[in-house]
Amino acid sequence: SKVLVTGANGYIAIWVVKNLLEKGYAVRGTVRSEEKAQYLRTLFSAYGDKHEEVVVEDITKEGAFDEAVKGVDAIEHTASPFHLNADDPDELIIPAVRGTVGILQSTLKHGSSVKRVVITSSCASVLTDVPTASTFTEVNWNEQCLEIVKEKGRSAPNMMKYRASKTLAEKSAWEFWNQHKSEVAWDLTVLNPPFVFGPVIHDVKTAETLNTSALTWYKMVAHPTSNGVTNEFLATNGSCWVDVRDLAEAHSRALEKAAAGGERIIVSTGLWKWQDFIDAANELNPPPRLSQPLPRGVPGAGTPNPATVHLLYYDTAKGERILGIKHRTIAETTKDTLADYEARGW
Ligand code: NDP
Repeated sequence: SKVLVTGANGYIAIWVVKNLLEKGYAVRGTVRSEEKAQYLRTLFSAYGDKHEEVVVEDITKEGAFDEAVKGVDAIEHTASPFHLNADDPDELIIPAVRGTVGILQSTLKHGSSVKRVVITSSCASVLTDVPTASTFTEVNWNEQCLEIVKEKGRSAPNMMKYRASKTLAEKSAWEFWNQHKSEVAWDLTVLNPPFVFGPVIHDVKTAETLNTSALTWYKMVAHPTSNGVTNEFLATNGSCWVDVRDLAEAHSRALEKAAAGGERIIVSTGLWKWQDFIDAANELNPPPRLSQPLPRGVPGAGTPNPATVHLLYYDTAKGERILGIKHRTIAETTKDTLADYEARGW
């Protein structure tokens, strides 16, 4: 069967495409330019006509996906801006919301063969900033970011603008679904990952142009000192994470598991502090050959330290029950990510 993947050149999406191709699916990827299409064609050339790339220049335009959805059996909608330099929150909110509603509208009108739509939302639409340790589940919604962005507009923290874009996009997806579910032969699944880390296979020429989450890992784990990051920050700062390849597997399983239909599913491996990744990097044997020596921080000062405080926890029971992914560990993801840097001469 054939799967449409939107934003196929992105960090996560390109691993989703790879995972689907390896499982034998045919994939149609949407990208914003012919140049981006070409990169995918080259990367996946071994799969012949099992993959095709189509250009959808502007996902905010009405009917943008009308052609792309024709003849596919399922859709993975991942395209959405993830950057932290928007001045006007609408720079993120408009493409996030219109892209999401747009693909659902196109599916409603032209997706007669579609059986499931999977949307890549985020834990950004689940969590709220909390003063004490808290566990979040799929019933939680991030209303906090919406209030902050409504109140502060352009002067809201940039992370809040991004969270608002994801929360509003996901809300609009469920709203659309609830309005139209009786008219369609497909159902909706939403995946909510926390920070996504791991090696990259999309088109990245320099470390500085990595996507937001992979760039953060690069700065914190490989180059904290030159980025002005203190040891204390490395030991105390973190959240929850998932390896990009495990998330790609979750996207495939979200299509395959009947029980995923109609569900919002958190896909998280667990907790981290930056120091935990740095410790894993320093434990590698043989050590990675990077362009600069690895930082050490304060070994053991992260999660192994009994005094470490984690505020955010996710209840991952639903994901375990429905998707059943075996997640990579901090050690595995660190090893593979640094091997990727080594191969790139970073
Ligand atoms: P990338 O920036 O690598 O990929 C984003 C993709 O969306 C690219 O294909 C990009 O196209 C496309 N896109 C961005 N803005 C627009 C726009 N205005 N119009 C059309 N297409 C657009 O990010 P990720 O792979 O990290 O993110 C993919 C999805 O996963 C997003 O929905 C993100 O919110 C979500 N997510 C990511 C997490 C992470 O830690 N990385 C965590 C949780 C969720 P182009 O390359 O042309 O700009």
